[in-house]
Amino acid sequence: MHLDKPLWRDERTARLLEAMLSGEVGEIKPQIDPDREVGYYYPELSRVLDVPDGEAQELLDSLAKQGILDKAFVEKYIHCPQCQSLNLAPGYYCVKCGSGRLARGRVLVHSGCEYAGAEEEFNQSGRLVCPKCFQEVRVIGQDYTSLGVMRKCRDCGEIFAHPSIKWRCLKCGSVTPEDRVVEVDAHSYSLPEREEIRLWLRFELGHKPRLIKFLQERGFEVAENAKVTGRSGAEHEFDMLATRDDGVAKHRIAVGIENSVRELGIDRVFSFDDKAYDCGIHDKIMVVLPQMKKEAEALAEHQRIKVIQSWDLEAVLGLKLPSVEAPAVEESFKFQSKSGLVEYLQKRGYEVDQDAVVRGKSGADHTFDMLATRDDGITLHRIAVGIEVSDAPIVLEKVFDFDDKAYDCTILNKVFIAVPGLSREGKRFADRQRIVVFEAAALEP
Ligand SMILES: [Zn+2]
Ligand SMILES: [Zn+2]
Ligand SMILES: [Zn+2]
Repeated sequence: MHLDKPLWRDERTARLLEAMLSGEVGEIKPQIDPDREVGYYYPELSRVLDVPDGEAQELLDSLAKQGILDKAFVEKYIHCPQCQSLNLAPGYYCVKCGSGRLARGRVLVHSGCEYAGAEEEFNQSGRLVCPKCFQEVRVIGQDYTSLGVMRKCRDCGEIFAHPSIKWRCLKCGSVTPEDRVVEVDAHSYSLPEREEIRLWLRFELGHKPRLIKFLQERGFEVAENAKVTGRSGAEHEFDMLATRDDGVAKHRIAVGIENSVRELGIDRVFSFDDKAYDCGIHDKIMVVLPQMKKEAEALAEHQRIKVIQSWDLEAVLGLKLPSVEAPAVEESFKFQSKSGLVEYLQKRGYEVDQDAVVRGKSGADHTFDMLATRDDGITLHRIAVGIEVSDAPIVLEKVFDFDDKAYDCTILNKVFIAVPGLSREGKRFADRQRIVVFEAAALEP
């Protein structure tokens, strides 16, 4: 299903679809109304939306084109091309001169002079007399023949079996040839019966804007259908990308929304995980409608993808967590003191533990000088902080040890405070390992 733009962002679309989902509006059918500009309208739609007829039509057609509504042919209407009225009456006209003055009746041909004319022209108080040569004709097949019922133009005399049809507009009076009237197919529109479409719509209209708000309240900037270029050079698109700049660490969450008739399989999990990996995004959320296969669930868990299935949505979005101050773009973090860093992180919603012990994948316990943790209800964001104070520049081994611990504990955001500074090798290594380094003359000046 391809969306032109997120459904919930268009107020009228959202209002109409919500009314259809709730059953307040059923099938949207056209109804003739000569007072309307195009001659018909959709009464069911008008009940919930106050929009001009043209816009209503556009809205319905765009939803049908996106596969959100089913469209079915109902009737063909013809319009006056001058005033759009549907109020047209057919009329018969001469095929030669276009005159509307036609006589209809048997057409007789006088055998003697070959004059052809309507029976009424021959009729002289009960007798038949040729109006051209004034001879009386009596016996059919001998004195005269009949061509059957035809039309004769009273203006140019042309005789023909099939007149041309033109439409007279009863509103503006103009007469339009048959091939120039405007034909319009009127359709009815309805929600597809398929349950997954309804489920997906409920998500798009209700849960999705709430999920965005949920993330925004936690200080994230949220982009829908966000394009990110990966390390491979390929461009990937995520249904949603939440970004939060915490000064010392950038936190990104990729959100994939999966809507499928069948249970979601591992292929979709793989492809989402690949994209996120290529873009270096470690926090991954998959919203799955309605559900996923057991093996896909296992793979997601193994790849540390947070899965929200349809029945979890209410619980997750209903979480009451304090909202977090949004990052001020102009205010980038400058290290001044250790206590200043602690205060900054706390203001950004982190809990900061000193000398925190974390068990690594290897089973070993590691101690970090500081560990900042922020649980936003969907993801857990951790920043490991290493502190080294010495008389001389900090050597590579110290940085290496810190990085190793963080790796074992799968902590991706790393901050290293070096007093009075880092050695050249240490700096190079920190750069490569994406460690944020602060060099200062003292820890607490
Ligand atoms: Zn005659
Ligand atoms: Zn004529
Ligand atoms: Zn008209």
